[in-house]
Amino acid sequence: MNPLLVSMDTLVDYAAIKPEHIAPAIEQLLQTARAAVDRAANPALEASWDAIITPLDDASEPLWRTWSVVGHLNSVVNSPELRDVYNAMLSQITEFSTWVGLHAGLYQQYQRLHQTPAFHTWPPARKRVIELALRDFKLSGVELQGQARTRYAEVSDQQSQVSQKFADNVLDATDAWSLVIDDIKRLDGVPEDVVASLKETDAQRWTLNLKMPCYLPVMQYARDRDLRHTLYKAYATRASEQGAHEFDNSTLIEQALSLRAEESTLLGFKHFADLRLQTRMADSDQEVIDFLRQLAQRAKPYAERDLVELKAFAQQELGLDDLQPWDIAFASECLRESRYAYSEDEVKQYFTEPRVLSGLFDVVQTLFNVTLKDCAISGWHADARAASIHNAKGDILGYLLLDLYARPAKQGGAWVDSERNRRKHLNGLQTPIIYLTCNFARPQGDRPALLTHDDVITLFHESGHALHALLSEVDEPGASAFSAVEWDAIELPSQFMENFCWEWSVLQRLTAHVDTQEPLPRDLYERMTAARNFQSGMQTVRQVEFSLFDILIHNHRQGLSIAEVLTQLDQVRDEVAVMRPPSWHRFPHSFSHLFAGGYGAGYYSYKWAEVLSADAFEAFEEAATRAAKTAHAAGQTLGTAGALDALTGERFKQEVLAVGGVRPAAESFKAFRGRAPRMDALLRHSGMSDAVPPAVNQ
Ligand SMILES: [Zn+2]
Repeated sequence: MNPLLVSMDTLVDYAAIKPEHIAPAIEQLLQTARAAVDRAANPALEASWDAIITPLDDASEPLWRTWSVVGHLNSVVNSPELRDVYNAMLSQITEFSTWVGLHAGLYQQYQRLHQTPAFHTWPPARKRVIELALRDFKLSGVELQGQARTRYAEVSDQQSQVSQKFADNVLDATDAWSLVIDDIKRLDGVPEDVVASLKETDAQRWTLNLKMPCYLPVMQYARDRDLRHTLYKAYATRASEQGAHEFDNSTLIEQALSLRAEESTLLGFKHFADLRLQTRMADSDQEVIDFLRQLAQRAKPYAERDLVELKAFAQQELGLDDLQPWDIAFASECLRESRYAYSEDEVKQYFTEPRVLSGLFDVVQTLFNVTLKDCAISGWHADARAASIHNAKGDILGYLLLDLYARPAKQGGAWVDSERNRRKHLNGLQTPIIYLTCNFARPQGDRPALLTHDDVITLFHESGHALHALLSEVDEPGASAFSAVEWDAIELPSQFMENFCWEWSVLQRLTAHVDTQEPLPRDLYERMTAARNFQSGMQTVRQVEFSLFDILIHNHRQGLSIAEVLTQLDQVRDEVAVMRPPSWHRFPHSFSHLFAGGYGAGYYSYKWAEVLSADAFEAFEEAATRAAKTAHAAGQTLGTAGALDALTGERFKQEVLAVGGVRPAAESFKAFRGRAPRMDALLRHSGMSDAVPPAVNQ
């Protein structure tokens, strides 16, 4: 029995999956799905949902689920065998998707469904599925003929090969680099648990690498400037001609841009940004550029102030007369410690992973009236675990599959993906199964893993994505959040959840000191919140730099040479950056978001969605203020709920999370907030509401 060929209502036995199961399963499921598409395209079929769409979903859902499982394994337990078969299947999958997208007969069936008189009586989710499908058919080139049609298929196939190779190069270049140190003094300043994790088992040697749990603490804490320089340079030149040549992504970047430009021209759009914005909340590249420049204009004076302060501090306190990029994280951490008198390491002692996770579950339960319970799983690795989520009646709403620790052969970063979608059948409800993956430092010895506050924010962020799928009430997979919400609004729930990591009432539930079990002390919390907007100017212009670079390399009729790409980056930096990296820095070469992920011409969406999420969170702040006033007027002491307002939570669940992609994000936002989004809350939360930055209190 092939464990990848289980029915949709069975949970996958991950532990039983071997690389040799993959090709037979995918090939069989592809065959079934192909046959179903051809049957659904029969013009003699009745133009109804049940005659055309239901059998199509029945056949394609198992394919997409299995492919999601395979993709997940490829990302979290990568091996040469797995990667080979994944890459081999990837081209078949891409070919299939391209074939469906170009299936004129199927396109005509969707048009028939759209024109059928009964269409206007359908549930909103079904109408939305048809409308989005018609749009996507056009975007995937169904109306192309002859030569253009053939070329379009080639371009699509090459694009997915290029992006997979780009990701492989970044992973390999990261994994290939290590530095062995036999003098522990070189690690002076680096937190003990990090040093312990780098130590070889039976030798007085420490092996450094470029994975986040090693790279970040070394850059932040290592007093050895040469060591920081070495790691910084290795990291900044990954997958470029400045690093190990076999992983150089230069040509792949050129190919990606050229293929994207060609794709856009074939489909009749001005450029790749124009094409991508067809499915976004933002209307045009110019609107995005204007939005980013407006944000840069507000943030740059703050960024300049941040840098002046940092330089002065580095010179006076650290003896660094010529602050270099590899000093920024270190000097910033020292400045943060001196100004706010706490270090991330001190904070980390309060955030043990079990406590944070149970606190997160608690927050979700309070806000959204659901329950999360640990449940058993036959996982892909000992780190994998699962929770089931239940509504107030106890019904299962879905499953969350967690894999939180960094390890070799696991892709870096944090992300959420859907294994199985919610779907309403004639004979019942299929619940969603969602992956939540992070790369936190694993536990050392018998102590629990300690998370930085940034890690906690990451976990909350990803949980917001997960909730978007888990709390869905959308009956059709084609209108689910991950399939149908506009790209630039998809970060609304995730960035919204981050705000709770700054709430006193929430932090009480999230913290217990690893040795004393004490919750986070109030004075430390106050220093943390004072530090929250530390260097927010510099951070904002950095995000704007990435976003502006992204949109400006994607709004050309033709591709760009790598030299032109680097020149564009320099021009963007001239405009918005306050600190210039060295000339050998090759940031684009490992910018997987743009070249191996879906963020090409879409990186701005993080900031765009921050406007939405900050504004949405403001509704919870307003509820807390109202509750405080009511309690005060009644002469009562206020409870400890703060922004964890269940009524507002219920409205957020109903108007934003539960509706997924059934309606445009702008409508969902308006239904929740009662008006269009405003930038004010974001600027206020980032400490940038004044036109001129106020002087900093030393
Ligand atoms: Zn996200």
